[in-house]
Amino acid sequence: VYKRQDLRYFFISLKANQKLKYMKIKKLLFASALLFSAYNAAAQTQVIAHRGFWKTEGSAQNSIAALLKADSIGCYGSEFDVWLAADDQLVVNHDPTFKGKRMENSPSTALTAIKLDNGESLPTLAKYLKAAQPLHTRLILELKAHSTPLRETKAIEKIVSLVKDMGLEKRMEYITFSLHATKEFIRLAPEGTPVYYLDGNLSPKELKELGCAGPDYHYTVFRKHPEWIRECHDLGMKVNAWTVNKTDDMKWLIDRKVDFITTNEPVQLQNLLKK
Ligand code: MG
Repeated sequence: VYKRQDLRYFFISLKANQKLKYMKIKKLLFASALLFSAYNAAAQTQVIAHRGFWKTEGSAQNSIAALLKADSIGCYGSEFDVWLAADDQLVVNHDPTFKGKRMENSPSTALTAIKLDNGESLPTLAKYLKAAQPLHTRLILELKAHSTPLRETKAIEKIVSLVKDMGLEKRMEYITFSLHATKEFIRLAPEGTPVYYLDGNLSPKELKELGCAGPDYHYTVFRKHPEWIRECHDLGMKVNAWTVNKTDDMKWLIDRKVDFITTNEPVQLQNLLKK
């Protein structure tokens, strides 16, 4: 609270050196506006397109088109799934067996020969990341759970090395259902890289002890444990929920200040957040 004489002194000195003071005040206001908008940006729930933005013309799940489209509508992040093929090459796809080919048992050449539903070839991770280089969206890489921990470690070593070579380290976030892979991402990715665990069975405290950035759980887990959202924030972690496609579920999570929502309906979620 200002006293009256303080205010008078303020106006006298303002008059004495008006231009300089105005400039200072302007700067101060500008800085506060920046801080305020940064705070708001942090508080606002962010949109992650699940397997890219694929429910649109010319797109398909986990296609490069879906990545470009997620970026073009300004999604915070675009999620995609990664497998280590039999020849130790990394490919982007969700299903363990896709169009008759088993990801882990097929050489990558057999997998990249598969056409996605939009006519694109199933991409290698290298091709996918190359397409991501000029974009802005964050890259939410899910490593699928593989048949052995050794295969997961090998995949992670290759991912981390490829990402480094492509200069994308600062745009990556890693997610996985495998507890082993979670620990390996934390061990092998550069310090500070967000790593989220997907399986829904660890408490906020357990995730914190592992070194996770937070939970990335099915939204029904948070319906069951709404207190986990607050607990994660108190522990300095972020909260992501998947795969949320209904307005009511989106609203419930937004009201509880969940940091990220992963959805097949990114435009619907963006419109909801604008309201
Ligand atoms: Mg996924």
